[in-house]
Amino acid sequence: MDDISLIFKSLEFAAIRHRGQFRKGTDRAPYINHPIQVAGLLVNRAAEKDAVLISAAILHDVIEDTVTTEEEKHELISLMRDQFGEEVVAVTLEVTDDKSLDKSERKRMQVIHGPSLSDRAKKLKIADKIMNLHDISAHPPEWWSIERIVEYHDWAESVVNGMRGISPVLESIFDETLRDGRKKYGLKGEREG
Ligand code: NDP
Ligand code: ZN
Repeated sequence: MDDISLIFKSLEFAAIRHRGQFRKGTDRAPYINHPIQVAGLLVNRAAEKDAVLISAAILHDVIEDTVTTEEEKHELISLMRDQFGEEVVAVTLEVTDDKSLDKSERKRMQVIHGPSLSDRAKKLKIADKIMNLHDISAHPPEWWSIERIVEYHDWAESVVNGMRGISPVLESIFDETLRDGRKKYGLKGEREG
């Protein structure tokens, strides 16, 4: 499959899997907007041209957010292997949380596992965090308190700090987005260093 075909096949697959899902923000955007924006950030702002990375970015929330049972998860992974190949599925799995753990444990695991991810998975994770911070600034989930927004900024920073050194461009977009978010909510000052 050539690169353009892989990208369009990924878009179609993710759009079907995320149908009927919405983001948590006040704009209630269709869920598919988010993976498209993460992939778009990698291509347009970080000049990433690696089709495996872009396809994985489009598919990055499909496993985590569209299956409930372990059996469904295995079936989906096997289908994705047939359609997109092992490399794309491997990156997608690297950025998928283990849903058998409770939510605070999943968040802790992202901080712990970040440094050992592949370069592709690190780039994808940083782009994902940039877009989530961007979404929180633009349309925060209405039930989130300022404390929860602060907590999310601090946690995102801890995850990204463990993945620095592979993409100065993405790191600087992340730092800028973090700084803007903290400024908007009157949170603590800029990252030092
Ligand atoms: P979060 O509350 O952290 O939700 C954020 C995740 O939701 C993002 O990482 C993103 O993931 C996705 N998402 C969907 N829509 C948006 C949007 N518009 N803006 C930003 N992110 C969006 O995760 P959980 O729902 O799992 O909540 C559990 C954790 O939240 C707890 O462990 C606790 O740490 C914290 N919490 C804190 C509270 C507080 O008041 N301090 C209260 C309750 C929970 P993706 O891109 O992968 O879809
Ligand atoms: Zn995401």
